Amino acid sequence: MASIPQTMSGILIEEPGDAEVLKWKTDLAVPQLSEGKILVKNEWVGVNYIDTYFRKGLYKAPMPMITGGEAGGIVVDVHPSVSNFKPGDRVGYLSSTRGSYAQYNVISPHTCIKLPDNISTNMAAASLLQGLTALTFIREAHPVKAGEWVLVHAAAGGVGSILCEMCSSVGANVIGTAGTPEKMDTAKKNGAQWVISSRKPQDEIVAEVLKITEGHGIDCVFDGVGAATFEADLQLAARKATLCVFGNASGAVPPVDPLRLSAGTPAKNLKLMRPTLFGYVVTAEEFHKYATELLGMIEKGIVKLEKTSTYQLENAKQAHIDLESRKTTGKLLLQVPQ
Ligand code: NDP
Repeated sequence: MASIPQTMSGILIEEPGDAEVLKWKTDLAVPQLSEGKILVKNEWVGVNYIDTYFRKGLYKAPMPMITGGEAGGIVVDVHPSVSNFKPGDRVGYLSSTRGSYAQYNVISPHTCIKLPDNISTNMAAASLLQGLTALTFIREAHPVKAGEWVLVHAAAGGVGSILCEMCSSVGANVIGTAGTPEKMDTAKKNGAQWVISSRKPQDEIVAEVLKITEGHGIDCVFDGVGAATFEADLQLAARKATLCVFGNASGAVPPVDPLRLSAGTPAKNLKLMRPTLFGYVVTAEEFHKYATELLGMIEKGIVKLEKTSTYQLENAKQAHIDLESRKTTGKLLLQVPQ
């Protein structure tokens, strides 16, 4: 194995802002190992919407910062206190402390998995964060059942695509929303039986949902869009539904009066969730249980990872611009120079 250099290339953010603040650097310090940690040489990095929140300062983090919460690569060094990984292991990982938009990252082995031979580091970076989000949400935020009505916003996006695949595989009736005819087609291929244009006015979306469900409404709404869709979610929800609001692609949802959850005659008695993946994979056991199941779903073809767009790590700025302008379908990956 090649020796570990002192410096590396990567993307540094020195102050919050638009995509212009993502600066390519070739003289960043390779992070040092510490107690309980492993050093991974990244090959592929997953881009996630949350990376834009940290970049903009919506989510706070100390600056300067290397952003990015997932990657696939090779373990190159292991602290003596770690016994379950060794140099040369091919792995995929999540990092709640970010740092993946670079050639090397020091991470906790708790959220790292050794990859089976048929899962590439590219597939790991394309699936872990969004796939585990979908999987933990359909199991724990709202256990999705056959025959239920589920609405997935941004059903051609990263998390939305996988939510459609997983919800349809358990036999739920899946309605998706997507922003262009091409994306609507992708959402159908993902398993949404009905797809509504997300560019329509929200009252029209509510009316279409009520028509499709013959007045029943939606038993579980998965909403990563946030501010633009939340009011409609309240209206199209069925009695006793779960509103699983998990993102802010259009802005954060303003504070909600709890009384609104029991509006209607009879009262809807809604459950409002605001889950985050990292709250479901706190222990190594939790992470490994779900990550192993997710990789199994990829092997079985339930999660297909068909739509991925690749950018060079140096062009992370363009990936952010495309993601925020609603241009993208499926997963965005950054290829790391080796
Ligand atoms: P996506 O690939 O889904 O991209 C966002 C999509 O949202 C767009 O393509 C667009 O789809 C839709 N959208 C609707 N309105 C807007 C708007 N005003 N601006 C931008 N996009 C809009 O991203 P991800 O899969 O990475 O993430 C989806 C959501 O899930 C994000 O909000 C993210 O923060 C959240 N998330 C939350 C997690 C958690 O633990 N809570 C974990 C992972 C993701 P269209 O044009 O088709 O309508």
